[in-house]
Amino acid sequence: MGNAAEIETPANKLELRSIAKTYRIGGQTADVLHGIDLTVRDREFVSVVGPSGSGKSTLFYMIGGLTEPSAGSVWLDGRDVTGERGLISYMPQHDGLFPWRSILDNVVLSQEIAGRSKAAARRDAREWLQRVGLGGYEEALPHQLSGGMRQRASFLRALLSPRDLMCLDEPFGALDALTRLEMQQWLLRIWEDNRRSVLFVTHSIEEALLLSDRVYVLAGRPATVADVVDVPFGRPRDEAVTSDSAFLSLKKRIYETLRAGSGRG
Ligand code: ADP
Repeated sequence: MGNAAEIETPANKLELRSIAKTYRIGGQTADVLHGIDLTVRDREFVSVVGPSGSGKSTLFYMIGGLTEPSAGSVWLDGRDVTGERGLISYMPQHDGLFPWRSILDNVVLSQEIAGRSKAAARRDAREWLQRVGLGGYEEALPHQLSGGMRQRASFLRALLSPRDLMCLDEPFGALDALTRLEMQQWLLRIWEDNRRSVLFVTHSIEEALLLSDRVYVLAGRPATVADVVDVPFGRPRDEAVTSDSAFLSLKKRIYETLRAGSGRG
């Protein structure tokens, strides 16, 4: 537990300031994002919801320094890091595990790259694999695991990275509905026990509301922040919250915003 002062003024882990992105291909330009302001405070779970093509992955590439914004800046821990790479932990849409590395070797990868002692990294990873129900799979190869299990291993790799900010790009998009539900529950439990700063991208309104402290809604072309929703439900949370009337009305509000932004409102 932090003290009262920390709770009143939590540090900003990530700040996007007036970000815009225009892609140029040949003689054509495409304005993808405009005037994006977004904050993830320390130990907050923040989601970005938007239809496909609204620039969510582009936002991540800019945070990760893989592409530069056309305007605006990216701040981490109060420092302008626009264009700098290697400062965040990233979990991609598809698990991103190396097929030739064992599950254990995949999970320790981010720590290995950061120069942590191999023995310590492996010890922690073994402990965590047990905790997330992957004990006994340390030496298995990714293809020997189900989709949900691979996502858990991939999430663990991001969680054990020494980088504080975790960026999760639609991590459950490729899973079947039931596995997705299980993974959402799983993520809630793990995150509530080990709070990290998370920026989570999804096109599922329900998933965003279930998991997050705050939801940014991207809509329009170029996409802007059409709404910011503070999620009022306490923690620990479980899926029972999804039938709460306040949950349903927030879901409707976000849906209407997306619909208006698509020109179908
Ligand atoms: P989302 O993740 O929300 O589906 P993306 O960030 O992948 O959206 O893409 C947003 C828009 O930017 C799309 O129209 C896409 O075609 C375009 N785009 C993405 N990357 C590039 C690129 N490297 N060059 C040109 N256009 C791109």
